[in-house]
Amino acid sequence: LHNQVQELKGNIRVFCRVRPLLGEEVTQAGGQIPHLQVTDERSLEIGKAAGAGANETMSGRRREEGDGKVNFAFDRVFPPETSQADVFEEISQLIQSALDGYNVCVFAYGQTGSGKTHTMEGGRDDELQGVIPRAVSQIFDACAALKEKGWSYTLEASFLEIYNETIRDLLSTSKEKMNYEIRMKDSKLNSKTKEVYVTNLKVVTVTEQADVASLLERARQQRAVAATNCNEHSSRSHSVFTLRMEGRNALTTETCHGSLNLVDLAGSERLKESGSQGDRLTETKNINKSLANLGNVIMALGNKQDHVPFRNSKLTHLLQHSLGGNSKTLMFVNVSPREDCAAETLNSLRFAAKVNQC
Ligand code: ADP
Ligand code: MG
Repeated sequence: LHNQVQELKGNIRVFCRVRPLLGEEVTQAGGQIPHLQVTDERSLEIGKAAGAGANETMSGRRREEGDGKVNFAFDRVFPPETSQADVFEEISQLIQSALDGYNVCVFAYGQTGSGKTHTMEGGRDDELQGVIPRAVSQIFDACAALKEKGWSYTLEASFLEIYNETIRDLLSTSKEKMNYEIRMKDSKLNSKTKEVYVTNLKVVTVTEQADVASLLERARQQRAVAATNCNEHSSRSHSVFTLRMEGRNALTTETCHGSLNLVDLAGSERLKESGSQGDRLTETKNINKSLANLGNVIMALGNKQDHVPFRNSKLTHLLQHSLGGNSKTLMFVNVSPREDCAAETLNSLRFAAKVNQC
């Protein structure tokens, strides 16, 4: 049934998640989020006056929409109290389809502080685990179950970061400076198809859940080491966790390969180009460009356009085979409940609404 629903709707789904107020925000806001209301399982409403923000003028476009509220509808909207387990339950079918041979991409889009990393990685406690550890655990369980039917799977993981249009390996422990380039090679299973790979990137064969947990930990440390200001760095880079799976059935000789790409995107907040100079300006332009390009690629695929601008950014170049063709994409749009974030929330929701039309 799940696959039928997908086919009717196209291959892209969008889920919106509103994070709860945290710490001091609770008292500051009196525990209320009046400007942002989840109206039902599939829609939310944002007050436009709030959305205009403190230093944003009421532009023509906003006025046209009247004084009321703006409504957005998505495939699912998760209110602030939604647990990690409940979020995962809604995507577990999608994760499963990677084992059926699909290339699955899950993105977390939103401004810094909106809950992207919480959604994708989550906390160390079991109930706080995010999409990556839960997905991996589900894949391992499913592989074990499929063994009885003759299937054996090889699982390979890689984890990279794209910062300022430069790829960095989050699993490498080598101090040597490597060159990571996106290239094409013949697919192992089918010589007629090409697959994308990254030169010098560490690809680790994983055989149990614990292997992946230690890889995630290694990646966390790598990021912390690289950054003088960790938050700044992680908010400006995309991280891409990839699990490739190759299955062979000893009884039927069938083969199957799919992949799972779990992407924590750079913060979507509009970075001001004015005021930045030199390296900082290039970096700002690169981030704005790569997020905009992701939207353009998804829309070009959705509209079945002949030209899809995969190569305009490293992220879409890397994921080109996982976005078009035999693929399924889910985008989380993470939003903050803070009233002073409302202008960015409105931007994020608009971006997601465009993606959702595909
Ligand atoms: P981002 O990655 O988008 O910058 P984070 O995931 O780091 O945002 O979230 C910002 C803060 O909010 C973190 O301290 C995180 O633990 C917390 N947080 C985010 N979403 C939730 C949630 N659903 N429940 C509880 N805490 C959350
Ligand atoms: Mg983050």
